[in-house]
Amino acid sequence: MQNTHSKTWGHRCAKGAARHQFTTESSRHRNRCSSLPPFRATRAAGFPGRRRRRCAGAATIRLVSNATRALSSSHWRRMASSSSPAPVPAGESLCQKRILSSRLYLEVPPSKAPVIYSPAYDISFLGLEKLHPFDSAKWGRICRYLTREGHLEKKQLVEPLEACKEDLLVVHTEEYLKSLKCSFRVANIVEVPPVSLVPNWIVQKKLLYPFRKQVGGSILSAKLALERGWAINVGGGFHHCSAQEGGGFCAYADISLCIQFAFVRLNISSVLIIDLDAHQGNGHEKDFAHDGRVYILDMYNAGIYPFDFTAMQYIDQKVELVSGTETDEYLEQLDKALEVSKSRFQPQLIVYNAGTDILDGDPLGRLKISPEGVVTRDEKVFRYAKDRNIPLLMLTSGGYMKSSARVIADSIINLSNKNLIELGSQLG
Ligand SMILES: [Zn+2]
Repeated sequence: MQNTHSKTWGHRCAKGAARHQFTTESSRHRNRCSSLPPFRATRAAGFPGRRRRRCAGAATIRLVSNATRALSSSHWRRMASSSSPAPVPAGESLCQKRILSSRLYLEVPPSKAPVIYSPAYDISFLGLEKLHPFDSAKWGRICRYLTREGHLEKKQLVEPLEACKEDLLVVHTEEYLKSLKCSFRVANIVEVPPVSLVPNWIVQKKLLYPFRKQVGGSILSAKLALERGWAINVGGGFHHCSAQEGGGFCAYADISLCIQFAFVRLNISSVLIIDLDAHQGNGHEKDFAHDGRVYILDMYNAGIYPFDFTAMQYIDQKVELVSGTETDEYLEQLDKALEVSKSRFQPQLIVYNAGTDILDGDPLGRLKISPEGVVTRDEKVFRYAKDRNIPLLMLTSGGYMKSSARVIADSIINLSNKNLIELGSQLG
């Protein structure tokens, strides 16, 4: 795809370590679900939504309609009716049929917390996982900290279903899913070359099945966020995977899937992605390149993978950091970015990609954010959502050190202590 009319403008921050850039763009990739009528859910819910205006010179500026309403405070509390499917129009697309017939939107009783996890998330792969810097047992460790320290009972965790082929086809192509039946292809995606030598049935069972469970969790988290005001999938956040292509340890586009399901099943038409993983979220950026219902705020280290300059043009609001950025500078940039997004887009759902590879010492993220800084970061994002009565779902995304699990658990405990979420005995 050519982008002959894109441009950016921005300003250097006081310390010169980061830069805000706001993007205009012209041509867009189309993803599988682009046939979904963009404003059907909007009209059904009475939300005018966000439109794109075509300008002279063929450049397209992504604009925010100031008519999009903020949700009422009842959304932050509990919404009993959020799971009702939207009316099915004549001639609905195959994607819509798949979404409407999916089993992933489970009914979750009020006694459970909107914290989604399955023991199947954790990857144990004949020891090969040790060849990757990723802590592949991070997700279970987070939950063990929360349960053993009395913040949550095991039985209060929500176990998701595995995203099946029909679910994945909402975004992915048959060809892409077929390509995952080649271990060599999967080895490239997860960046562990020896995986290419492993029979594919083992790769499916030990690696791709855990990923598909996490995808099921991400999709379900949107429904729970609308019902409870917030939800945390203790996994997911595979933000390098787009409809067409995996990479960077991301085999399925869970963020794109989660949002497409929400459009159809939850009667919403405006979603804000806040991507604070250390890496650029090039997967969802490509998938929503031409979709004015999705506004993307991405704050990342511009000096590391994936250097996806095409996807960069689809970020509505980007904050590029340099390697070595420290906590105070980082949090200052986050405050500024959230302030800007506040005036530019009124979402009905926030997808928060909360990677912890921003931690000081992470060999891949190369930023210098303290554990306390990560806790404060998450608190800022949750407060931003709660103050504006916008349902928020959090995905844990990247975070490659053993210490990540502890930091994520501490952050969830802090959110509970600050009454931004309700855990354990607080549930009523
Ligand atoms: Zn990352």
